[in-house]
Amino acid sequence: MKFFSTLLLLTLVGTCATPKYTAKIQNIKDSITIVDTTAVKHYSQTITSNELSVLLYKFASKEFQGRKVGEQGQKLAAEFLQSYYIEQGIASPFGSDNYFQGISSSYLSKSIGASENVLAYIEGSEKPEEVLVLSAHLDHLGIKDGKIYYGADDDGSGTVAIMEIAEAFKVAAENGHPPKRSILFTHFTAEEVGQIGSKFYVENPIFPLENTIVNLNIDMIGRVDERHNENKNYIYLIGSDRISKELHYISEAVRDTYVDIDLDYTYNALTDRNQYYSRSDHYKFAKRDIPVIFYFNGEHDDYHQHTDTPDKIDYELLEKRTRLIFATAWQLVNQEKRLVSDENNPILD
Ligand SMILES: [Zn+2]
Repeated sequence: MKFFSTLLLLTLVGTCATPKYTAKIQNIKDSITIVDTTAVKHYSQTITSNELSVLLYKFASKEFQGRKVGEQGQKLAAEFLQSYYIEQGIASPFGSDNYFQGISSSYLSKSIGASENVLAYIEGSEKPEEVLVLSAHLDHLGIKDGKIYYGADDDGSGTVAIMEIAEAFKVAAENGHPPKRSILFTHFTAEEVGQIGSKFYVENPIFPLENTIVNLNIDMIGRVDERHNENKNYIYLIGSDRISKELHYISEAVRDTYVDIDLDYTYNALTDRNQYYSRSDHYKFAKRDIPVIFYFNGEHDDYHQHTDTPDKIDYELLEKRTRLIFATAWQLVNQEKRLVSDENNPILD
């Protein structure tokens, strides 16, 4: 098996790394201009380990009973998110004080009941019709055998990262730096039962999918896996080069500019047996040919256990990873040209 995959890899490299292809990739890299570096550095400071920790101890507390889709704890979690956005003065895309995209029990299943995605929105100042979707799932596994499954990493970490990123963009907008393109802060429900919240969203998008420029999806970014015991300064990126090479190189240029962290592509390998690419909400966007990046820390002993608790989160690391995603989102909504998929990229013709 190992021999086979090595051979396959060599074959792929052989076909891609022609001088002409290498030149095209270089042209993509050269076409990238990182924008607003002073502003990005400034506003990323509003994302702090302390605030992430306060939010996560609340979101992954007993009060929300493991946030099982359709149950009371999940409803309370959705209401908590809605209250947060109202408090922050961040609008609903529905233009009222309702931030819920309702999903009926007939869509989900009778045994689950009805549920809701939670959506907040900052409108772009120059190209409001072009939208970046930033996402994390709000649901988890609930209570089993009397034990609460807190889901602090899965996906409390992604949830609070989005809350802090939304606050950073809001503060920037208030200080005269609104995003040029729009941002949809998206908390999907029903991920744990088969990515049903994101499936519902792409079938019933609030903004047309053809104007959805990218989906950055965060699912578990607060912990360290066994492979990185020696060096925890990493984050796995999955999918960044599959639909848009430009996205991949923008993401790397942003990292080079702002954040000293390793981007680990181990799980992006097409042959990876875990197939994480298809295992969180971004996949529903990828299937519609929308470029995606999935941010992930890998699995650990507490993955899908009742022991995934907020005291085990590395908040400094969560801050660093959140700032990286904020800076990436900033670039994508503020760079002059809209991100292109490889299919529409003249450089790759
Ligand atoms: Zn998850």
